[in-house]
Amino acid sequence: MDLKITNTLMREKQVFTPIDPSNVRLYVCGPTVYDHAHVGNARPAVVFDVLVRVLRHLYGKDHVTHVANITDIDDKIMIRAKERGVDIETLTGETADIYNADMAAIGVNRPDVQPRATGHVSQMIAMTERLIERGHAYAAEGHVLFNVPSMSDYGQLSRRDRDEMIAGARVDVAPYKRDPADFVLWKPSADDQPGWDSPWGRGRPGWHIECSAMAAEHLGEVFDIHGGGLDLIFPHHENEIAQTRCAFGHARMANYWMHNGFLTAEGEKMSKSLGNFYTVHELLEEWPGEAIRLLLLSAHYRQPLDFSKAGLREAKTQLDRLYRALENSADIPTEQPGLMLKNQNDAAVDIDHPREQYILEALCDDLNTPLAISRLHKLATSLNSDDRANPAIKRTFLQGAELLGILSTTPSEWFQGEVSGISPIEIERLIAARSNARKAKDFAEADRIRDDLKARGIELEDGPSGTTWKRAG
Ligand code: AMP
Ligand code: ZN
Repeated sequence: MDLKITNTLMREKQVFTPIDPSNVRLYVCGPTVYDHAHVGNARPAVVFDVLVRVLRHLYGKDHVTHVANITDIDDKIMIRAKERGVDIETLTGETADIYNADMAAIGVNRPDVQPRATGHVSQMIAMTERLIERGHAYAAEGHVLFNVPSMSDYGQLSRRDRDEMIAGARVDVAPYKRDPADFVLWKPSADDQPGWDSPWGRGRPGWHIECSAMAAEHLGEVFDIHGGGLDLIFPHHENEIAQTRCAFGHARMANYWMHNGFLTAEGEKMSKSLGNFYTVHELLEEWPGEAIRLLLLSAHYRQPLDFSKAGLREAKTQLDRLYRALENSADIPTEQPGLMLKNQNDAAVDIDHPREQYILEALCDDLNTPLAISRLHKLATSLNSDDRANPAIKRTFLQGAELLGILSTTPSEWFQGEVSGISPIEIERLIAARSNARKAKDFAEADRIRDDLKARGIELEDGPSGTTWKRAG
């Protein structure tokens, strides 16, 4: 089945054709780790996690390379570390661990590679040198700048005209810039700021070069898909394209560019600067991770999505219904390939589609998650009816849930979680928090978490490949 995706670069929905089907490669811009991720930051993580699940289904699980970075050097990080009186490694290490635990709790699989910017500074320096050699960048007063007029087709992704591009820069153009649109590849660090030695003195990289260098290192000079939130189209992605294309001389950096819409709170973009946000971490205290995930998938990824507690409650109710259907359904025989949905008296199921593709097909149409979720509900209706023993329907239902990344536990765990007040996802989150505490040598906190779980009837067992849990008794 063809996968169609909306390519921001071409402004149209296109059939996805990978460069190499045996290794489909995508890069997604990850978080800047100075504070807990808000639920808006979780939207790209969840959306691209679904895309990766679909790609693995279509091309094979070992034939996809998903890279999503962690930005661990940035002015906001430097300011926050100073405020807290810790070094940046401590701040970013802690924040990245919490980010990963939060994402795991909402069903986001870890990317195959999660590069950190500070681990790739030599590649950033090498790329900057290359851009200077090729006449696309220049050093001035300890800075290195990319010279925008040196690239004749700069601006293809955002399609802004020059006035719009320099609108922000015009009032206060740094005197060392040859052109107001030029942007920073490298900047000097003061003695009390983090920095690396470079041919231009001690300094640190600009944000855009970080992603160009990490993507090239792990995916090559040209790859398939690049993703991120809508706010990154300009200047971040435009500048990534400029750097990578000018450094390597190709017509493209990535063939497909995908952008998720904003999560809003009462109509405004959810952001830390506006202060109108919920962190994933705090929501997980109260809500199962799957409810957060289902809410994030309830609108098409390109549309804005308004976040509310009422929406979370609705998502939770939907999950109760889906888990109930799973509970009511009969066990399926393990091997019954090729079964098709039959034309049963339940008109809810669209019988024209072979069962295996019923939900996949919705996702292959530019990740139409609202349609996929409504189809999952139709299948649930069937599983609650005379069709409860139809293995084809159940298999399709399970496969759809797997692609969406929900129903990852059993109905008894899901409902039991409610009774004992703790869900399996919450348990996993606490296990991750305990492991972070142990890494930070905070054994009192680690023991507190273990004892707290024990008091709630959950026993932990530490083994060579991590910690497992079971309900006591
Ligand atoms: P940041 O940590 O701000 O660099 O953002 C990490 C990712 O979250 C980027 O892909 C952003 O585009 C995305 N993002 C930030 N705020 C929102 C929001 N309110 N809705 C959707 N995506 C967002
Ligand atoms: Zn990026």
